[in-house]
Amino acid sequence: MLIDIHSGDDLLKEEYMKLAINLARATAHQTSPNPAVGAVVVNNGEIVGMGAHLKAGEAHAEVNALSMAGDRAKGGTIYVTLEPCAHFGRTPPCADLIIKKQLSKVVIASSDPNPLVAGLGIEKLRNAGISVETGVLQEEADALNSVFFHYIRQRTPYVTLKMACSLDGKTATAGGESKWITCEASRLDGHTQRRIHDAILVGIGTVMADDPKLTARSESIAENPIRVVLDTHLRIREDARVVTDGAAATWIFTGRTIDGDKARRLQSEQVTVIRLPSESIAIKDVLNDLGQKGVTSLLVEGGSAVHGSFLKAKAFNRVIAYIAPKLIGGRDAVPAIGGTGIRYLADVPELSIKNVERLDQDLKVTLIPKAG
Ligand code: NDP
Ligand code: ZN
Repeated sequence: MLIDIHSGDDLLKEEYMKLAINLARATAHQTSPNPAVGAVVVNNGEIVGMGAHLKAGEAHAEVNALSMAGDRAKGGTIYVTLEPCAHFGRTPPCADLIIKKQLSKVVIASSDPNPLVAGLGIEKLRNAGISVETGVLQEEADALNSVFFHYIRQRTPYVTLKMACSLDGKTATAGGESKWITCEASRLDGHTQRRIHDAILVGIGTVMADDPKLTARSESIAENPIRVVLDTHLRIREDARVVTDGAAATWIFTGRTIDGDKARRLQSEQVTVIRLPSESIAIKDVLNDLGQKGVTSLLVEGGSAVHGSFLKAKAFNRVIAYIAPKLIGGRDAVPAIGGTGIRYLADVPELSIKNVERLDQDLKVTLIPKAG
């Protein structure tokens, strides 16, 4: 009887995969528009290589892990959080490298989200006589790349609706006061959210009322998300901070009918005016355009009317609500989600709560729409 020298490695497969997932998790948000991927190479019960994909355009996780392993990769097992690529992109295919390095087994968590290439890497490896096991800790690995997977499949950004409100869902009093309903810890967390999104979107109402900077409070322009403003008739003031501060790119979406001279004056290295062919701005057109421009994740900060439009269009993948222990009340106080609302309960999208956290005084609740 053949003794399987890899059975020891196999027993620990979830531990090795967890390590690979943790490597990927540690690089999340620095690999966009690529996924976060980690890999661990094990031979004879010893870890001989580890690696992660660090940045778009740089080596894939498998390449880094295999280069650390060197000759010790031969006959070993590689645990990788995402199916190895089989096609030439900016780097040669990892499946080919695994074959060349003569590994005996590949253990995969998530399969490739792109339906056109899903399974090709696995097929290539199997054809070369390498044993392949899939789906190990898949749920955990999928969750790590929910933004990337969504973008690859839909070609539109993964949308997070962020709202900060009182317990009764108000973002301002009837007198228009909104600073501050939530506590400092919530606001700080909100800024962290900005840093991990490609772009952040608000309506012109918010820009007119607050003249916000909408930055992640980072000195580096590259680290601040792109600021997207919905402004049908190009009402924005030419001295608004998002136009003049040089802190990040600003894209202003408008409808067809705008003052062309003003648009030309606004256009700069910082500001791009994107004129849609329709009279009003449909959320789905904005998302399609942002997707085409390579925006993979979008944080929608409001205000009330804009949130209402995203709800109506059912155009969101996650909700983050910062809820303060305050009751504002009043018919005329501004609701977190305005617009015309949804008329029938049967049409209200069902959400499931993914996480509830306490941030000092407030609650932070993260929800995602239920599938189906
Ligand atoms: P919004 O920021 O939601 O902007 C609404 C305006 O955006 C609309 O009036 C419209 O103006 C324009 N717009 C263009 N396209 C769309 C579309 N598809 N859907 C909706 N709006 C569109 O303004 P609100 O007045 O509702 O809210 C602003 C208030 O909310 C401010 O007082 C601000 O302080 C508060 N706020 C509170 C936050 C919080 O978390 N507490 C966060 C953000 C804002 P037009 O037709 O001219 O283009
Ligand atoms: Zn690869």
